[in-house]
Amino acid sequence: MSALNIQENYPMRKHLSFRCGGNARFFAEIESIDELIFARNFSLDKNIPLFILGQGTNILISDLGYNGLIIKLGKSFNSFELSDNGTQMIAKAKAGVILGSLSRKVSKEGYAGLQMLAGIPGTIGGAVYMNAGAYGQEIADTLIEVKTLTEKGELKTYSNKECSFAYRSSIFQKNKEIILEASFKLPKSERNILESEIENAMKSRREKQPLDKPNAGSAFKRPKEGFPGAFIEQAGLKGFKIGDAQVSEKHANFIVNLGNATAKEIAELFKYVEQKVYERFQIKLEREVIFLGDF
Ligand SMILES: Cc1cc2nc3c(=O)[nH]c(=O)nc-3n(C[C@H](O)[C@H](O)[C@H](O)COP(=O)(O)OP(=O)(O)OC[C@H]3O[C@@H](n4cnc5c(N)ncnc54)[C@H](O)[C@@H]3O)c2cc1C
Repeated sequence: MSALNIQENYPMRKHLSFRCGGNARFFAEIESIDELIFARNFSLDKNIPLFILGQGTNILISDLGYNGLIIKLGKSFNSFELSDNGTQMIAKAKAGVILGSLSRKVSKEGYAGLQMLAGIPGTIGGAVYMNAGAYGQEIADTLIEVKTLTEKGELKTYSNKECSFAYRSSIFQKNKEIILEASFKLPKSERNILESEIENAMKSRREKQPLDKPNAGSAFKRPKEGFPGAFIEQAGLKGFKIGDAQVSEKHANFIVNLGNATAKEIAELFKYVEQKVYERFQIKLEREVIFLGDF
């Protein structure tokens, strides 16, 4: 009997903001470090990869599925602690906490640094891994330290500097450690100002992004030459479709699922856009969305 409820051939689409794709060979929801270690050992024993999913807002899984163990942090990784001394707040959040809820909570308490991130869907773990950012703010800006579980099953603490943060990038993309917790140092500000910054950012998202259709945020990272959406639009691809996968008519750097898109259609559209933008501008777009499985 396993100490962990590991389910086999588990449908993943409900866990992904793209709402498509195949099954995980194994899936488990994790409630403790011991369970994480058990999951790690299970994947080593079976000689299959282990993948940790946050809220699945930046992921495309192949229709053929994922030949590995996908784990998701459960309720016990969903709490945060706040302490403040009137001039600054320390916010310590477990990796499963929803970024938007932490951002709103600390802003409501009058502490700055996460307010522009309120509209980014997903977890603290996913945001640290991606160094998520928006409207001039990044997760790295106020982060003090990150606690992880290493591949050897040991607990480790990284200072901000040790996380090697860069645009949509962190050391965790290389070392594959499991992020358990992150702490932030937030300076005192004005609650009213922070709340209106959140509202303005949310309004801008509603106006510019196709939030009514399944998507995974920006399809491509910003190259040094400019905004991917502008290049995609100038290549004449806004609204272009492959099956039910479409380059959003609202924002060309979003690929949306019109209803019944397969992961294959979405992946083909990514490749098509990359090819056309390269032909037209000799710019190699780099994907921000993470592809999992065989395409
Ligand atoms: C409508 C929409 C708008 C978006 N806007 C933005 C935006 O403005 N800015 C921005 O940066 N992104 C944006 N995104 C993309 C996405 O929300 C972010 O990348 C987010 O931080 C991903 O978090 P997640 O929990 O969903 O991670 P997932 O998508 O589940 O995973 C992303 C990566 O993080 C890793 N990961 C997750 N949790 C852990 C953990 N505990 N330990 C180790 N690795 C982990 C996963 O293995 C995976 O490799 C948007 C997405 C959508 C759908």
